[in-house]
Amino acid sequence: MDRRLSKPPVFRFAPSPNGLLHLGHALSALLNHDMAKVEAGRFLLRVEDIDAARCTPEFEAAIFEDLDWLGLSFEEPVRRQSDHLDVYRQALELLADRDLVYPAFLTRGEIRNAVSVFEAEGKAWPRDPDGAPLYPGSEKTLSPADRRALLESGRPYAWRLDMAKALAQVGKPPTWLESGFGPEGETGTITADPAAWGDVILSRSDAPSSYHLAVTVDDALQGVSHVVRGRDLFHATSVHRLLQQLLDLPQPAYHHHRLILGEDGRKLSKSNRDTGISAFRQAGKTPDDLRAMIL
Ligand code: GLU
Repeated sequence: MDRRLSKPPVFRFAPSPNGLLHLGHALSALLNHDMAKVEAGRFLLRVEDIDAARCTPEFEAAIFEDLDWLGLSFEEPVRRQSDHLDVYRQALELLADRDLVYPAFLTRGEIRNAVSVFEAEGKAWPRDPDGAPLYPGSEKTLSPADRRALLESGRPYAWRLDMAKALAQVGKPPTWLESGFGPEGETGTITADPAAWGDVILSRSDAPSSYHLAVTVDDALQGVSHVVRGRDLFHATSVHRLLQQLLDLPQPAYHHHRLILGEDGRKLSKSNRDTGISAFRQAGKTPDDLRAMIL
């Protein structure tokens, strides 16, 4: 018998401790937990705290408190990304060995300026699915000597994926199986469009991994078979599927769920305390009230 077929499915909730969890996080956590239960699967919590400048121990403690209040238990030990930075670095090195990444020195401000000069001439600069201008990519053609000089100058830089080279290596674009819905109602077999993101950042000189790299590596290392998360990350899945192919990692099934919108019709924000799980708790609501509100 193929033992892989008998493995229980693995679900995970992967919040970042850079703010208080809100109703949208509660929906993600409850869906993951409940789906794992229905499918006799495992439920993991992963703390995505690679952004040391924005993540705090207080917000991390609040995650545990909120999940405990919701009555959700998860396997121990909990994976904390900041404990595994060497693993993401190794993945980056695998890509560097294949010449698929390059150091990029333009700052956000410099990119913005280049784009506004271009747009002032009435030309459209391509933007990623989140609306940020794509990276110009001019540094891909730096001579080895110029690149070395810039690296030695101590200027901060980011490692970016050479998207054109990466796509050429994988051949045809990867697909994924979507059991939820994308922002435009996309469902079923989805063809990834990683090129829409341009040369994505995989790490920075001051932060050893980007979200895209860490999430992809961890989902594989933790044997996650089902990624259930908000629809705002639907397009990011294109990058994750490409990285899975480049790094020869297994592909999970994906389910992107609806977002909970605030009264203003916008996505909830971690900085709005009113829609934080703890605010409902303090207002005397029960976990069942919360379930009834969002599920
Ligand atoms: N850490 C991400 C966030 O808090 C979610 C990652 C994921 O579910 O893939 O938005």
